[in-house]
Amino acid sequence: ETKAPSNFIRQIIDRDLAEGKNDGQVVTRFPPEPNGYLHIGHAKSICLNFGVAESYNGSCNLRFDDTNPEKEEDEYIQSIKQDVQWLGFTWNGQEKFASDYFDRLYELAVELIHKGLAYVDSLSPEQIAEYRGNFTTPGKPSPYRERSVEENLALFEQMRSGEMDEGAAVLRAKIDMQSANLNLRDPILYRIRKKVHHQTGDKWVIYPMYDFTHPLSDALEGITHSLCTLEFEDHRPFYDWVIEHTSVPASPRQYEFARLNLNYTVTSKRKLKQLVDEGHVEGWNDPRMPTISGLRRRGYTPASLRTFCESVGVSRADSVVDMGMLEAAIRDDLNQHAPRAMCVLNPLKVVIENWEGGKEESLTAPVHPQNETMGTRQVPMTREIYIDREDFREEANKKFKRLVLGDRVRLRYGYVVRATDVVRDDSGEIVEVRCSYDPDTLGKNPENADDQGKLRGVIHWVSASKGEPCEVRLYDRLFTAANPNKTEEGQTFLSHINPDSLSVLDGCWVEPGLRGVLAETRYQFEREGYFCVDQSSSADKLVFNQTVGLRESWPK
Ligand code: ATP
Ligand code: MG
Ligand code: MG
Repeated sequence: ETKAPSNFIRQIIDRDLAEGKNDGQVVTRFPPEPNGYLHIGHAKSICLNFGVAESYNGSCNLRFDDTNPEKEEDEYIQSIKQDVQWLGFTWNGQEKFASDYFDRLYELAVELIHKGLAYVDSLSPEQIAEYRGNFTTPGKPSPYRERSVEENLALFEQMRSGEMDEGAAVLRAKIDMQSANLNLRDPILYRIRKKVHHQTGDKWVIYPMYDFTHPLSDALEGITHSLCTLEFEDHRPFYDWVIEHTSVPASPRQYEFARLNLNYTVTSKRKLKQLVDEGHVEGWNDPRMPTISGLRRRGYTPASLRTFCESVGVSRADSVVDMGMLEAAIRDDLNQHAPRAMCVLNPLKVVIENWEGGKEESLTAPVHPQNETMGTRQVPMTREIYIDREDFREEANKKFKRLVLGDRVRLRYGYVVRATDVVRDDSGEIVEVRCSYDPDTLGKNPENADDQGKLRGVIHWVSASKGEPCEVRLYDRLFTAANPNKTEEGQTFLSHINPDSLSVLDGCWVEPGLRGVLAETRYQFEREGYFCVDQSSSADKLVFNQTVGLRESWPK
């Protein structure tokens, strides 16, 4: 295994370990909110958190950040676990829910009230926002800020017991209404939400805010390095304040890194959910989605996503990564590891006139031309075969390295054939090419001295009588704009959706060895690109998703 490249987070950990901090322990966590499926940005955070834990013999908890009872669903929890495991990481039983700590969080809030560091505010949400001020105006104190400890305890108990309506009051930290950091202007710790929670049921009608829950969950789990994205930088002073003023057993530290952004797509769960809900895609795992499950269905391997995340690196500089880099990662992986197969996407029938009617020959081909250890495969040759329409022309100059009327090509792994005639339908379209084959050309070049000219090239093909029909789905970018989030007035990111991101080719033919292959099996279709068996594929109907082309070919 190659050692992960260093980054500023690893340097901080190295320094902490050298100074003997945290008893030499490294404990991280990956804390998704279960309100959607994970996307490629989350993969970066997963690789960082689990990767750091792995390298330092530490551990990484999977923690569901489920403080918001309204948006969270069990389907998301299951998908998140599946995606993390699929990426190749394990949390060693350390599966946590922020809601596991609701009792403890409540006690710690009461502790803050006792210390005179929290109060119940009865201002309306609008008034609270107004009193808080903004970057240019200082905040002003709520008239309820100086309530006594006893009064605050009694009111907080009323909030908890359900005696108060939603919005009637909140619990706030008492910090500094003049602070230049808006997050320190008496942030809200608890609000009333009369909602059933998927883990705690109807036990609670008050729910802790994310900014209060997160540092405490970290501390209660003994997290040493709490890694999050840069938008939380301004929240760090409050994170530290919470740790400092509550009696928790550990002092985790928060470090921020830049989010991963990819061009030609969106990485926001809210936007991805909108694509799903409004039917712009088939679901969260549509192969065009930048979700982990979508990339998986598209044909990406866990290794390719880990390699990609590693090559993107971890820094504090915001940037947009080119989609081509993600594609390069899977192309490299599949080029090395994917078995080869022949699939004809736009079939044109070829009849070999000097091949006996019922004769079938089994040709031997390597599974991977550069890797003998992957063995060989058998490909049936028959009188009628399919080639790709693009691989035949009646006339062409010498640059066309495919079949031309009167000229010869080699059928990959098979014989040399010469095109002798064409058959047309009523509209004049060519529906068949007539050929002759040279029986003495299997694995060797034609020897006859009177043969004019060289072979034009080598083309792929599939036996018409023995081949397997299949459907192939080709994909283009889901958005036509490099930055779909950038919109003119009256537009949304949906204005940039590419209407032609999916083309379904029915009536393709693949070599018969692929009959019945399982979903997620990946191939290089020779001369066409990389493809993966779709989950909808069955013994009756094979369906393939195009993963990526053979070469970088975009923009077209
Ligand atoms: P979204 O904006 O898509 O809803 P989020 O940050 O709200 O993302 P969470 O479920 O809270 O989603 O994310 C879990 C973890 O993954 C957090 O630590 C978050 O910082 C990290 N994360 C989310 N998006 C990215 C990204 N694009 N790049 C790197 N890390 C990310
Ligand atoms: Mg979040
Ligand atoms: Mg979010």
